[in-house]
Amino acid sequence: MARLVMKFGGTSVGSVDRIKNVAKRVKKEVDAGNEVAVVVSAMSGETNRLVGLASDVAALHDAREYDVVVSSGEQVTVGLLSMALQDLGVNARSWLGWQIPVKTSDVHGAARIEDIDCSELVERFKDGQVAVCAGFQGIASSRRITTLGRGGSDTSAVALAAAMEADQCDIYTDVDGIYTADPRIATKASKLDRITYEEMLELASLGAKVLQTRSVEMAMKHRVKLQVLSSFEELPGTLVVDEDDIVEHQVVSGVTYTRDEAKVTLQQVNDQPGVAALVFGALADAHVNVDMIVQNVSEDGKATDLTFTVGRNELDPALKVLENLKGEVNCKAIVPDPNVVKVSIVGMGMRSHAGVAQTMFSALAEKGINIQVISTSEIKVSVLLAEEYTELAVRTLHSAFNLDAA
Ligand code: ADP
Ligand code: ASP
Ligand code: MG
Repeated sequence: MARLVMKFGGTSVGSVDRIKNVAKRVKKEVDAGNEVAVVVSAMSGETNRLVGLASDVAALHDAREYDVVVSSGEQVTVGLLSMALQDLGVNARSWLGWQIPVKTSDVHGAARIEDIDCSELVERFKDGQVAVCAGFQGIASSRRITTLGRGGSDTSAVALAAAMEADQCDIYTDVDGIYTADPRIATKASKLDRITYEEMLELASLGAKVLQTRSVEMAMKHRVKLQVLSSFEELPGTLVVDEDDIVEHQVVSGVTYTRDEAKVTLQQVNDQPGVAALVFGALADAHVNVDMIVQNVSEDGKATDLTFTVGRNELDPALKVLENLKGEVNCKAIVPDPNVVKVSIVGMGMRSHAGVAQTMFSALAEKGINIQVISTSEIKVSVLLAEEYTELAVRTLHSAFNLDAA
């Protein structure tokens, strides 16, 4: 007997038939004698619809009310799945975030889980009851409903698995595992049997939305045995594991991309001490996160271009802040460019192999793709490119690092 957390994403519960299919998968585990907690997302498209409704009513809305609205999708699916399970003769009960409770911070729209008390759920396992839990939802100390950010049901599942010391946390989704690149744009992407927590953390934070970044962080911290697998086919998926559990590391394990950033160039700012501190200090005060940064060396020692990226949805607030600073840093022009993509390669093997970045740059150059900004860390290299090159760049790098499926 094992204790399992099974998480099903939006596509997996996207219709009545699919919910019934999920119920069958869950019943199988129950029949095998396992204790099961299920975590579900809203039906596919539903959260987007709810986000749209909130924006339509008021472009600038109260984040607490946003959470009340967008969390409702998960209420529907826990109820429906519980009914479907009961219909198959399985003892099942639904749980909303506040009922469990999943206690979170009060950062509405992007709350962090602080504590989960799953004692009642675990108590009910003794009666063979399946806990059908709403993903994405929590409750703040103010007793207001919170949500965990887009894709947050992954984090709900991992956090629940950690809290109930589950033997495994299975993330069922619309692909049959973690691939070397998003299989929707890299047709030659191949499925990985295993990937390290560290690599998956980088891939997720650099755009691979197959797992929410925080879910990987949490799995790594609590050593949750995490698997990504198909909700439609019964195939082994991809295990996310410790570094020691992988015998041979690829130099590059995956290629990923994100269109979530926008580039800003401050043309001809003063090249003198304190300018960067002023610009990035003002952005930080306005809670605008800056990611990649390049500053050219000025030829005359007087003025230089300063280029950096911010979240695409933070571009407008960033521009407002910069407009106010324009005079102070003596900047000629502020040039925003939202049409960029950040493409990254990730792999533990980079620690011990030289020349990886060089291979990346040459491969892009051969296709005539211009690199606008570069950033590196121990196990990744990211480049900023014109958005139109997204697919070409991902495919090119996938081939250059020998990741193409045979
Ligand atoms: P769910 O609704 O089940 O949470 P998501 O849409 O959030 O599913 O995540 C699954 C999607 O992640 C896949 O359909 C795939 O397009 C995308 N994806 C991006 N990068 C990868 C990758 N490296 N491996 C697998 N899937 C990926
Ligand atoms: N339904 C939420 C979303 O679409 C949470 C999730 O699916 O993980 O972002
Ligand atoms: Mg998801």
